[in-house]
Amino acid sequence: MAMMMSGAAAQDFAAARAKMADEIAAMARDTARETGRPAFGTRVMQAMRKVERHRFVAAGDERDAYRNAPLAIGSGQTISQPYMVALMSDLMDLSGHEKVLEIGTGSGYQAAVLAQLAASVYTIEIIESLGQLAAQRLAAAGYRNVMSRIGDGYQGWKEAAPFDAIMVTAAAREVPPALIEQLKPGGKLVIPVGAPKGRQELLVITKADDGKTQTRRVLAVRFVPLTGGPGAR
Ligand code: SAM
Repeated sequence: MAMMMSGAAAQDFAAARAKMADEIAAMARDTARETGRPAFGTRVMQAMRKVERHRFVAAGDERDAYRNAPLAIGSGQTISQPYMVALMSDLMDLSGHEKVLEIGTGSGYQAAVLAQLAASVYTIEIIESLGQLAAQRLAAAGYRNVMSRIGDGYQGWKEAAPFDAIMVTAAAREVPPALIEQLKPGGKLVIPVGAPKGRQELLVITKADDGKTQTRRVLAVRFVPLTGGPGAR
């Protein structure tokens, strides 16, 4: 059911979003030594100011939507911290013409942010109930350039490949080979890698024209695990 909102509530949310964007900018400055990015790009910050995160949180959590924090969305999963959404989006260096793949639709919020930054977004979620709800929310919010499917993102989305950029929003034990294969030369894969409850690092993997990859470690992170993969077959 569509959420009814008064003009005053819409203004409150807009003010909360602006405050959240200021907090993201401050956190970007604080983490610049590790990330190498003291400020995120203008388009990324515009997207963070524009996308209505309160549409993607669990029912009843709307008032908490603009805290710079992850929130539970059911099925043991989370909507990522807004700073992390902004950082990972920024690391993709999108100009607006790209076809991108996201693994781990979750709430649909990151897909909505990417939809502001790229030409088209393909997003995969392994938990059917979450994927279906996210697809409904993205449609209700008017995002026409997001294609969603239920499945194991470890395998990527072969029929829609290759992609200009790929983002994984759950921690993989190792980099899924299919994602490197489905990345265009010159493309970037942004992915947290590490043990489920152990050390995880956010990586940016760039694929060169000759197919070789270069990996940059960005910072230590904590994500829910990427499930599926070889063990699930
Ligand atoms: N991007 C999400 C958002 O904006 O709400 C946050 C995602 S949450 C941190 C990670 C998501 O990845 C969960 O919804 C989880 O079910 C999903 N996931 C885990 N393993 C997956 C896989 N192999 N394929 C697709 N989705 C997966």
